Amino acid sequence: MKRREFIVNTALAVGGTALLTGCGKKELIKKEGQVYKRKFKDLEIPLLGFGCMRLPMTKNNEIDMLELDKMVDYSMEHGANYFDTAYMYVNGQSENAMGKTLNRYKREDFILADKSPIYKMRSQEDVRATFEEQCKKCGVEYFDFYMCHNINVNTVDIYKKVKMYDEIMKLKQEGRIKYVGFSFHGTPEILRDVVQEHKWDFCQLQINYLDWDVVKAHEQYEIVQEKKIPVIVMEPLRGGGLVNLSDRAMNKLKEAYPDTTPAEFGLRWAASRQNVITVLSGMSNLQQVKENVQTFMNYKDMDENEEKTADEIAKILQSQGEINCTACKYCMEVCPKNINIPAAFALYNQYKVTNNKMMFTIYYDTLAEAEKPEQCIKCGLCSKNCPQNLKIPELLTEISEEYKKIKA
Ligand code: SF4
Ligand code: SF4
Repeated sequence: MKRREFIVNTALAVGGTALLTGCGKKELIKKEGQVYKRKFKDLEIPLLGFGCMRLPMTKNNEIDMLELDKMVDYSMEHGANYFDTAYMYVNGQSENAMGKTLNRYKREDFILADKSPIYKMRSQEDVRATFEEQCKKCGVEYFDFYMCHNINVNTVDIYKKVKMYDEIMKLKQEGRIKYVGFSFHGTPEILRDVVQEHKWDFCQLQINYLDWDVVKAHEQYEIVQEKKIPVIVMEPLRGGGLVNLSDRAMNKLKEAYPDTTPAEFGLRWAASRQNVITVLSGMSNLQQVKENVQTFMNYKDMDENEEKTADEIAKILQSQGEINCTACKYCMEVCPKNINIPAAFALYNQYKVTNNKMMFTIYYDTLAEAEKPEQCIKCGLCSKNCPQNLKIPELLTEISEEYKKIKA
């Protein structure tokens, strides 16, 4: 069948803070059988981006390439051809795996984003050497989108010292990078400095309806909006935290929108911000890809009532005292004891919501002995690397104390 193509002009119809900071009309492109796209420079970017941080794994803890190929094929078939990987994702295996699966396609048919690992850099030469290593791992000559990865309070000085921006701009001039950006987990003050200092094609921010207030995501969004820097959204579902809602939060959603899933609701919320070009979802199986593709094939911006419901759910979640962990695992990169920090936080959060002591202890017991919270030696390295600024050692103590108390 011949493809029908039309531009859908979506007027600003959303309420809340986003409306106040909106920059005009958002143009969406719809092709039959495909997810909605947005025009960005010379590209058409799908509103659904494929995050490559939580790839499917086999029982042997290797990336499940059979499942990954199916996921990528389904995405490509439906126009979701934007893939976002990084040096450190899946213990350094994501780039290789994405290279293998994507190289079954023509290079111009997929859009590949990668990131320069700031924490690894000692000199400007390292930036180029790492870029070449990444190209090799991905089996490509160039990246469409390339970022300074994870600028935050601990990395901002390194990124400046090694002149990462200058080196990346040289690569852009050589045609090895199309668009230069940064991903960010810092304070609004650092963000202001970063956007003043350099000219960026785009940026990647953590935006979801819970973090909008909790980690001041709205402030970050407004800062880049002022500078007219388009946004790629990461963690729209907060590492799954907005998928597995508490009963109270789920009831609120179902009362208002019985046919909506929490994932669909969260993804649409993020995509409805007017300055957003794509929303990354870290998908781990084919079913998730299918569900997300459906969401973005039938996409529409949220209306005022939906925005209000999102605010109410966020308030419920905040009042339940959850630990604000997105399961990014940056803390585990530096933990000398290999403690499974995000797993401990996830099970504790669940416990706080359900108050189910038995399930809490059962899940706690499934953690490997060496990875349990009580193995923490309180060195504090994890907290320095945590984008959410969590007081990890203290929280781990609280969790293990709670466990001991219940057991006693
Ligand atoms: S404080 Fe504990 S959890 Fe954090 S890095 Fe040190 S040992 Fe690991
Ligand atoms: S504790 Fe912080 S660094 Fe660790 S997984 Fe959670 S959000 Fe990421």
